[in-house]
Amino acid sequence: MGLAVTAQAGGHGASGDVDGVILLRTKALDSVTVWPDKRVARVGAGAPWGKVLAEAGPHGLAGLAGSSPIVSVVGYTLGGGLSWFGRKYGWAADSVRAPEEGAEATRILDGIGGAIADERGPVAVADLGDITSEPTDPGPGMGRAELLTGLDDATAETLLAAPIDPLVGVQVRHLGGALAEPGGGPTGPVAEPYLLYMLGLALNPQLAQAVRGKQAELTGALGAVVSGRKPYTFLSPGEQATAAFPAETIARLRAIRQAANPHGVIRANYSV
Ligand SMILES: Cc1cc2nc3c(=O)[nH]c(=O)nc-3n(C[C@H](O)[C@H](O)[C@H](O)COP(=O)(O)OP(=O)(O)OC[C@H]3O[C@@H](n4cnc5c(N)ncnc54)[C@H](O)[C@@H]3O)c2cc1C
Repeated sequence: MGLAVTAQAGGHGASGDVDGVILLRTKALDSVTVWPDKRVARVGAGAPWGKVLAEAGPHGLAGLAGSSPIVSVVGYTLGGGLSWFGRKYGWAADSVRAPEEGAEATRILDGIGGAIADERGPVAVADLGDITSEPTDPGPGMGRAELLTGLDDATAETLLAAPIDPLVGVQVRHLGGALAEPGGGPTGPVAEPYLLYMLGLALNPQLAQAVRGKQAELTGALGAVVSGRKPYTFLSPGEQATAAFPAETIARLRAIRQAANPHGVIRANYSV
């Protein structure tokens, strides 16, 4: 039929570009098997991270999950996967055993006068998805991420200077550790020690514009501390894969794409 094909687990990374594409929904392929003695899990193409954590937690194990329990393991991991445990274990993709075909924020928090809630403390593995309280019901989420070269007092003050409205969340995640070390992955060492993530809901065109405006305002106010790079799984519609990978990686990925998918039959949300 001359149509392209793309897989979609839950659509949490959808970029809106599916014209002329067969959408292969994998949501029902949500099997999860954990072998505690081997410290290995096998997941179906549509399995969400929350399900893996619920299965692994009782064995005292966890996967390299990110903040959302509803994001699919496969979609997240294919993009690298920036986990709560990234500083220790690096990218989630680096812990994949085998694909099967077909199948320093604390300092800042201490400094906030009158924090509404300080919920630091141990978290059960099954509750990792609750840390950021991101919405889990389907909704028109509109995120923007920026890697930060530092988080000094001036940067913290800028972030805390005004209410974040109309955003529903502004997160700062501590990177570094294993993520900053040379590895075999496509991203290379992430020199930036922090990730800023600004999330809003585009419930109507006016709100979408206001969310985009607030994200741009905050980014602009931070100035030179914003590096302009961002992890692949944090790209937003309108952004390019070139913001996530060094030029030599892009060239290598393009060569692989040309060899494996010369006619563009398989479509990615942010193509190289
Ligand atoms: C609330 C929220 C929090 C997030 N937090 C994090 C985080 O902490 N760390 C992080 O790294 N990312 C995070 N992300 C980003 C998320 O990892 C990406 O958006 C990811 O691409 C979502 O994967 P999905 O399969 O759920 O989404 P989908 O939109 O269904 O798929 C995303 C991409 O993966 C491809 N894909 C999915 N399944 C397959 C398959 N079986 N075979 C081939 N291609 C496939 C799709 O074709 C598409 O290109 C978050 C996203 C949201 C919405």
